[in-house]
Amino acid sequence: MTTESLAFGDPDFTFSETLRAERGFVLADVDTRATPGYEGDKKSAAMDLVEGQTELSDLQERLWANGKDGDGPSVLLLVQGMDTSGKGGIMRHVVGATDPGGVKYTAFKAPTPEERAHDFLWRIDRALPDAGQLGVFDRSQYEDVLVVRVNELVPRSEWMRRYAQINAFERAALARGITVVKVMLHISSDEQKARLGERLDRPDKYYKYNPGDIAERARWDDYMEAYQAVLAKTSTKGAPWHVVPADRKWYARLAVQQLLLEHLRGLDLEWPAATFDVATEQERLAQT
Ligand code: AMP
Ligand code: MG
Repeated sequence: MTTESLAFGDPDFTFSETLRAERGFVLADVDTRATPGYEGDKKSAAMDLVEGQTELSDLQERLWANGKDGDGPSVLLLVQGMDTSGKGGIMRHVVGATDPGGVKYTAFKAPTPEERAHDFLWRIDRALPDAGQLGVFDRSQYEDVLVVRVNELVPRSEWMRRYAQINAFERAALARGITVVKVMLHISSDEQKARLGERLDRPDKYYKYNPGDIAERARWDDYMEAYQAVLAKTSTKGAPWHVVPADRKWYARLAVQQLLLEHLRGLDLEWPAATFDVATEQERLAQT
């Protein structure tokens, strides 16, 4: 049986394998409306998402418990995607089910003057999760080879070097016990147009609209070329990319939640043993 014929619910199925960008991956071949590995619909996906929240919460607590002594593993969920691709929805519907005390969340904007005074990875390094934390990147170091490349914010010779710098940086993070889960939310240009239109139709969405989004949208093909380069150059064995078709928000949310769950399960997190003698402590408590 090939993985193609497996789907969510089968014991051997994983979103990690199904959505991984392997060598030779072609972004232009992805159907952004597809729901790879999922045979249900919007309604069942919402129920599956709720079911996953319980396990996510449990595994995050185990992760946190193992980090208490300062040297346990950590996990980084890195989310990239064009404007309106649903990054915010992932934060609310997937990450929102976790304990905020154990999350280190960063949304990367255009660099501040202070950040600009340092190497592009300076602010990224500071945002990495500590032992036991779930790190979350809403945009990331990849903006430095996406928006920066498309708009030529630095010379070509400089951004060309960054792919190798990013790979080395991520290798070092892995060596420190950080599991890196990289996700690209992939929407079509038509879907983006519809979503931007909705932001302009609804007063409760105006705050998400930025007139500058239209200029970026006009460079759609350049962005897709830049994303293709990212996938070709930085989908490594230790930190592969997962491309999630995201025209259907319900699918993207479930897929990202399951990607996170699969990686957390892979850490085999046991509850840490007591660092004290339990019987002695019970005795002491009884005497109070
Ligand atoms: P949003 O995520 O919609 O709040 O927008 C954040 C904006 O910051 C986007 O337009 C990004 O392209 C931009 N941004 C993020 N990182 C960088 C960077 N390293 N250089 C330039 N612009 C960036
Ligand atoms: Mg925006």
